[in-house]
Amino acid sequence: MLIKQIPIRNNLRNYMYLLACEQTLEAIAIDPLDHAVCLQVAKDLGWSIKIVANTHHHFDHIDGNGPVIAATGAELVAHAEAMQAIPNVDRGLQAGESLSCGELVLKVMDTPGHTMSHICLYFSGNSEEKPALFCGDTLFNAGVGRCDFGGEPKILHKTFVDQIFPLPDDVRIFPGHDYIENNLEFTLDRESDNQSALSLREQFKNGLDAESFVSDIGLEREINVFFRLNEKQVRAGIASSLNVDVNSLDSQKTFIGLRSLRDNW
Ligand SMILES: [Zn+2]
Repeated sequence: MLIKQIPIRNNLRNYMYLLACEQTLEAIAIDPLDHAVCLQVAKDLGWSIKIVANTHHHFDHIDGNGPVIAATGAELVAHAEAMQAIPNVDRGLQAGESLSCGELVLKVMDTPGHTMSHICLYFSGNSEEKPALFCGDTLFNAGVGRCDFGGEPKILHKTFVDQIFPLPDDVRIFPGHDYIENNLEFTLDRESDNQSALSLREQFKNGLDAESFVSDIGLEREINVFFRLNEKQVRAGIASSLNVDVNSLDSQKTFIGLRSLRDNW
């Protein structure tokens, strides 16, 4: 699979993605908000966009669909239950289905929580290439999507327990926004001695480019506080922020507590 990660540099720091089949150079455009840039990059690479895929219905993910489809004739695919919210979807996708483009095959994951109809697209990898997860606003580098625009933190926690935490460590993460530097500060606010987060923050300070940085699940287990729900310090911090007994907290309550703290942080 050929991957082009394109930072949009708007206020919301969206990423869009072009994924192409190496044999045919046919491509999938994921959430192509900046349609002009998306079309130009595809043209420069010699890739032909056959499919536009939306991870979910928020405007900053779907607003570029029209011009990309007008220019390429691409098919629009999205979560089957997002078809009312996203204009002109050609095909609704369900959990476990395959999305093919040329020889490239991605697996559709149904990952509710940020919104109730959200998909992630999973590339399972091969002998030369590590797996990859295109995760929209479900999972960010060192963070998770917020739930106050049509989502539900309890459901997002279930999505993580059932589908994200079990992923292998070598799965590369391609999220819908570049929030890593802020998110690292939140992790450090919760775990001030988190050595992996401290070291990565130092690397960004010393010039590591956040925009083209690609994390993986193994690193997320270290730097993403939403993966660290059973850590003593994280639980104690939530108990004291919420003014509850630490023994009353489980993984779900800790996750929900973290999400609500992050909303107002
Ligand atoms: Zn969103």
